[in-house]
Amino acid sequence: MEVALSDKEMEKLFVDKFGNDLRPFIKVRAPGRVNLIGEHTDYNDGFVFPMALTRQTTILAKPRTDGVIRIASSLEPQVVEFSIDAPVKKDPPKWSAYPRGVAEALRKKNLLKVGMDALAYTDVPLGGGLSSSASFEVASGLAMLTVNNASLAMPELALACQWAEHHYAGVPCGIMDQYISAMGVKGHAMLLDCRDLKPRQIPLDNTQVEFLIVNSNVKHELVQGEYTARRNQCHRAVELISRAFPMVKALRDVSMPMLEECRLNLDPVVFRRARHVITENQRTLDFAAALEAKNWKSAGKLMYASHESLRDDYGVSCPELDALVEICSGVSGIYGARMTGGGFGGSIVVMGRHAAMADAAATIDDQYPRRTGLQATHFVTTAGPGAHVVSGLAR
Ligand code: ADP
Ligand code: MG
Repeated sequence: MEVALSDKEMEKLFVDKFGNDLRPFIKVRAPGRVNLIGEHTDYNDGFVFPMALTRQTTILAKPRTDGVIRIASSLEPQVVEFSIDAPVKKDPPKWSAYPRGVAEALRKKNLLKVGMDALAYTDVPLGGGLSSSASFEVASGLAMLTVNNASLAMPELALACQWAEHHYAGVPCGIMDQYISAMGVKGHAMLLDCRDLKPRQIPLDNTQVEFLIVNSNVKHELVQGEYTARRNQCHRAVELISRAFPMVKALRDVSMPMLEECRLNLDPVVFRRARHVITENQRTLDFAAALEAKNWKSAGKLMYASHESLRDDYGVSCPELDALVEICSGVSGIYGARMTGGGFGGSIVVMGRHAAMADAAATIDDQYPRRTGLQATHFVTTAGPGAHVVSGLAR
């Protein structure tokens, strides 16, 4: 299970895994993330709004004098060993793909002279849509840079990690997860324009709002096929709309009046898919403005509206996610809730006052099993920091 370890427990585990003294060591961290709003907008050149979690991957590492990286995880029995003196091999076990890929990306940039012995542990739930993979990659990369006294701008580190995810883990992801894990700022969320990849840090007062992340613990089988179908429908909408409006390159460029004008030429389902994307982009910008104004109620309403649009227009919710959102909407002090991630299962994100978090959790524990026969898992988070070195090498 993913749990936080104390410094002492971690240092002991390091010695157990590697059988040698730990000192001198470095410690780095990189968070998981949740997308607060802006769903299915990334592949339409639109806006997303991720926030770094207070849950993160921590890596404790000791530099070596040779070009060997040995890496262990508190969740895995093996110690993985590979060399950075030549292209890094894509060998098993599967979990080693992440640090291997990052090592290869940094090696190609000539940033790695020495290897390290490194131990990773995490309290980000694995495979729960909270991007434990990006946090593992970014923490691995930062550890490698730190033991080498090498520096790399955070956007470059994020791109190296995305490269690793594409080429070593085989997941063709966008840049959002690695960007927020590398560049998150405590007490802020990141408005990211997926067209020019420019991030804007939006203040999110941790003393006034907190977030409950609730995993529905369902994963419906449809995900991949439905995802491809949605992408094709968006593509089709652009194709048809651009006949009337040649400057349209993506749904990002379409306004609601433009969509209405083309309505008769669009299949009703394609029309609804496009309407979700167009309204979701606007909601994401409005959400950022509401947070800046500390108008939590307006921001919360936009989260509910986002959920309804994903459910009714985009068709990617499911009864379990709808039940969770509905349960939370009845709790006093909760401002908003919505499904987060691709859909058909996975998690919801709930925004509310600190005092409402325990009530929401208890209400879910009471009502969700009765309505669905399932147990949900949940935790509270605020806007945590992005990747950082906790302790570096004495120079
Ligand atoms: P998500 O990113 O949503 O959590 P992924 O399937 O993309 O889900 O990534 C999860 C995978 O990342 C795990 O199956 C495991 O291989 C790897 N992983 C993440 N964190 C660790 C860790 N601390 N130790 C070992 N493997 C990890
Ligand atoms: Mg992932």
